[in-house]
Amino acid sequence: MKYVLLVHGGAGAINRKMISSKRDAYLNGLESALRAGGRILEKGGSALDAVEKAVIDLENNPIFNAGKGSVLTHDGEVELDASIMEGKGRQAGAVCGLRNITNPISAARCVLQESEHVLLSAKGALRFANAMGFEQVTDGYFFTEERKAQLEKALKTDRVFLDHDSDEKHGTVGAVALDLEGNLAAATSTGGLTNKKWGRVGDSPLIGAGTWADNRSCAVSCTGYGEAFIRCLTAYEVGARILFGGSSLEKAGDAAIHQSIGELGATGGLIAVDRMGNYHMPFNSAGMFRGVLMKGREPEVRIF
Ligand code: ASP
Repeated sequence: MKYVLLVHGGAGAINRKMISSKRDAYLNGLESALRAGGRILEKGGSALDAVEKAVIDLENNPIFNAGKGSVLTHDGEVELDASIMEGKGRQAGAVCGLRNITNPISAARCVLQESEHVLLSAKGALRFANAMGFEQVTDGYFFTEERKAQLEKALKTDRVFLDHDSDEKHGTVGAVALDLEGNLAAATSTGGLTNKKWGRVGDSPLIGAGTWADNRSCAVSCTGYGEAFIRCLTAYEVGARILFGGSSLEKAGDAAIHQSIGELGATGGLIAVDRMGNYHMPFNSAGMFRGVLMKGREPEVRIF
């Protein structure tokens, strides 16, 4: 029996020179998340617990675009999207446009476990989190000076930015895992795009678009221009190519990114693992912060 845990910290036009001073901080952040989730898998814990734990670790790290340190909306606010899914019963939970909760992935997990619903939005999601006993923090908890500067720049050009395509390199986060019992799970969390307007929701909280887990095929977490991932149902597409098309994980992941997403002129990537422990992390952007941990091995982390 083996376990596998993959994490990502976002994809984009990552510039080698510009990130050089922060390279170690990113790699250490990915490694820390792998170790946090890996401890659960090592003890025989579930893939669902492991992906939640890994994503919490990344949400708490202000260098990534999720939880603390998330990018700012057009109005200078932080609106968080997250989702989580397990592959045995295909249960899922998600939140979007959530404010003032430190770990949206845990709120999503709570939706999965404690509610009759899959996706809760904005004020309703916050009310649910409050009712479930989540601590509410002030806006100040999430803000960093870098994010303010990033928004000011975006406002000047009136464009939205994928986090890693702006000068400051941070990113959406995600994790997928196979546990010792052979179950799969996936989780994704993000602040979305810098300068997003009008309650924009990306792919990350949408089951099938940014996140998918099905023991019959694979577990997937995506990152990139959410609008394209929604139009392609990318995470589900990878599973469907395996389940209905008999594709290998590698071919399915490559087709979803290099054909489907690429044909729409969008960039991004995904991490995916199947029940045999095969894994794949394709991207069509310059880089993707990513890492893998397998039973009996040291964590491996990469950007390019
Ligand atoms: N997919 C995310 C979104 O569109 C952004 C990202 O992956 O960085 O909200």
